Amino acid sequence: MIKNEVEFPLSAPSSLALEAHLAPYAAHSATSRGRRFHESPPTARTEFQRDRDRIVHSTAFRRLEYKTQVFVNHEGDLFRTRLTHSLEVAQIARSVARNLRLNEDLVEAISLAHDLGHTPFGHAGQDALHECMRDHGGFEHNLQSLAVVDQLEEHYGAFDGLNLCFETREGILKHCSRENARKLGDLGERFLTGKQPSLEAQIANVADEIAYNNHDVDDGLRSGFITLEQLSEVSLWQTHFEAARGEYPDIEGEGRRLIHETIRRIINTLIVDLIEATSRNLARVRPASLDDVRNAPTLVSHSDEVAAQAAQLKRFLFKNLYRHYRVMRMANKAKRVVTGLFDAFTDDPRLLPPAYQVRLPVADESANDAAAPVHGSSQARLISHYIAGMTDRYALKEYQRLFVIDNN
Ligand code: MG
Repeated sequence: MIKNEVEFPLSAPSSLALEAHLAPYAAHSATSRGRRFHESPPTARTEFQRDRDRIVHSTAFRRLEYKTQVFVNHEGDLFRTRLTHSLEVAQIARSVARNLRLNEDLVEAISLAHDLGHTPFGHAGQDALHECMRDHGGFEHNLQSLAVVDQLEEHYGAFDGLNLCFETREGILKHCSRENARKLGDLGERFLTGKQPSLEAQIANVADEIAYNNHDVDDGLRSGFITLEQLSEVSLWQTHFEAARGEYPDIEGEGRRLIHETIRRIINTLIVDLIEATSRNLARVRPASLDDVRNAPTLVSHSDEVAAQAAQLKRFLFKNLYRHYRVMRMANKAKRVVTGLFDAFTDDPRLLPPAYQVRLPVADESANDAAAPVHGSSQARLISHYIAGMTDRYALKEYQRLFVIDNN
């Protein structure tokens, strides 16, 4: 009798097989510097795929849907949130990584996790929380992202946090003060020695910029805070706007189609330039391993010409969008909410939800460190963790619950 059924389970591919196509200087699961708590190797996926999957299933990841970049979440359904931003970063980073034979799973994990520590209300919220924490070790969203994946997520029986690989955590920690770097052990080392992170981390970093420069133009135009006329002074924009109009002269009067046609060209140009310029850097420096990458200068970069154009676009957005009076008004409101909540909880910690009260308090000031574990954090740090975890709408609601009579 001929046996023609496929037998299941098929033997699961090892991570070595799944990553066999990678360049020698890519980050490989098999040579990862490992996790903080020992775990058996995953079946049918690589270590970095497991990291990505843990991030997607985390609570902080779901909250990104209701946290903003520039516009407050309730202002409109079409604006970017931190969730869509993170997905766009991952898309861009994966395209670049695949072309360079780097580890797509690792860049995806880093990209999806890179904003997990952001406060509600974008940078205004972070600045306000940093001000509140000035005497207690400060607040920095990058360190907070690390705190989320290392301590704050409560998903596993064996450990706090997500127990991610060193390379993923390293990619999340984009920048760090020397003072905090000293407290972070091997993860902080490169900030003291001037070494680079993996190419995958470098890619996620640039992909972040490509994503927000472009979607902020899109959202800025949609909101009416910036205009096509203003943008004509930005060479990167104008070159592609004219090219799109030249190719499709009929779509000029069709609302947003010409804008989208322009933005997709800019994103494509930036991605292709990043791949080409980085390939040239790699051909010049010839790293043979991830260690060589760490000892080399930054290898993931745009060409000088495109870097200058991208910088011009960034300056334009800073001046015309991020400093727009209506964005400033929103920022001012956000500051009031964050500061009001922090002060209220500081004055009377009994107002905190029970889950936070049980962790109170500690007299030891060293517990203020941003890198301190949750159990054993100072009162101020616990309050900061609570506020940082809030979505825009939750923060507004909590503010109303605390300050508006007639609200429950
Ligand atoms: Mg970002």
